[in-house]
Amino acid sequence: MNYDLIVSGAGPAGSVTAAAVAQAGYRVLVLEKDSSCRSPCAGYIGNTINIELPRCCTIQSKIRKMRTYFPDMSFHDFQLNGFVVDRSSFDMALAIAAEESGAHIRWQSPLIDLTGDCVRFRGGEAFGTIIVGADGVFSRVASLLGERRQRAAFCAQYHLRGIEPLPEPDTCEIFFDADYAPGGYVWVYPIGHNSAKVGLGTTVAGSRSPHKYLDAFISESSVAERLSGERTKYMAGALPIDGLREKLCYGNVLLVGDSSGMADPVTGAGINNAMLAGEIAGKTIINALENDDTTLLGQYETRIGRLLGRPLARSLEKRKKLDRYCASNELLQRHLPEVWVTFEEYWA
Ligand SMILES: Cc1cc2nc3c(=O)[nH]c(=O)nc-3n(C[C@H](O)[C@H](O)[C@H](O)COP(=O)(O)OP(=O)(O)OC[C@H]3O[C@@H](n4cnc5c(N)ncnc54)[C@H](O)[C@@H]3O)c2cc1C
Repeated sequence: MNYDLIVSGAGPAGSVTAAAVAQAGYRVLVLEKDSSCRSPCAGYIGNTINIELPRCCTIQSKIRKMRTYFPDMSFHDFQLNGFVVDRSSFDMALAIAAEESGAHIRWQSPLIDLTGDCVRFRGGEAFGTIIVGADGVFSRVASLLGERRQRAAFCAQYHLRGIEPLPEPDTCEIFFDADYAPGGYVWVYPIGHNSAKVGLGTTVAGSRSPHKYLDAFISESSVAERLSGERTKYMAGALPIDGLREKLCYGNVLLVGDSSGMADPVTGAGINNAMLAGEIAGKTIINALENDDTTLLGQYETRIGRLLGRPLARSLEKRKKLDRYCASNELLQRHLPEVWVTFEEYWA
């Protein structure tokens, strides 16, 4: 089959790109390796940019405050404005929107190989004028293009049910502690009464797996008592912490979202950037197709560089600092305000 666009990956980056291009009347195929959308994620989305929430996505809580704990458990509060979504329903709603715009999604069809305009996937092959790699942190498309594997944070998360109510229902909590989340942090996002998503990310290959670190935090840390409840929905995943790749456009191929390092190297947040990049990729692809000129795809790299280059470069600098402090609670205690976004020192 011939398509104008073939997208690898039905996460936020892939579905937003596919929807935009299909909406303009082009033939779009999305290849997704899994049988449905199920990216592991805390699902926090900040209201910092104007993204349109997909219909029928479940909002689990509104967040108005972030409480960041130092290793000694002193804390710092910061007002913010965001919400927590059920990530599977969120991604599924975006995928359905892409289908409703005319894109064809093939589930359980991982992209295997890519040569010129020919894409081989489990179960067949197809030809695309333009190809988008939106297949996440360990992108197959990026590796087929000869790109190196990105440095990643490895994460684990539970839904905890029947826990003690958190101090304030619209407050999420962030814990920095080298003993439980070396190189990263622990998050607690309230989702309704007596429930929370509790997870962590680590960047240091320590003596424990992220799963073991998380179990230890929930059962041994100074907040263990109020987190003792039923542990459900365990999930594990990874996100890129290397910052934006230098190259995002390779002839007729674009990298969008985590495949190109668009998640923030310190906070790990990547949904907003993935969707924003999907919109920009979509517009650039439509322009290239309208003009029958794939050299116009280079504009995607320029636009993304202008928009995300600076903030991601700053965050990468902070990540390098955090790497120096992360093994020691004493250093973390002293330097946390320099490396975490809710402190003024971060922006100085
Ligand atoms: C535990 C955890 C918690 C997180 N919490 C947050 C948060 O609260 N807020 C936030 O903003 N960000 C969070 N992130 C980061 C966020 O999930 C990502 O930045 C975001 O999902 C990137 O979107 P994407 O579409 O680029 O990639 P993904 O969402 O990873 O989607 C990639 C898709 O490609 C598919 N795929 C992979 N390989 C292939 C292949 N060969 N062929 C076809 N399909 C393939 C995958 O199955 C997947 O569906 C978290 C990440 C993790 C791991």
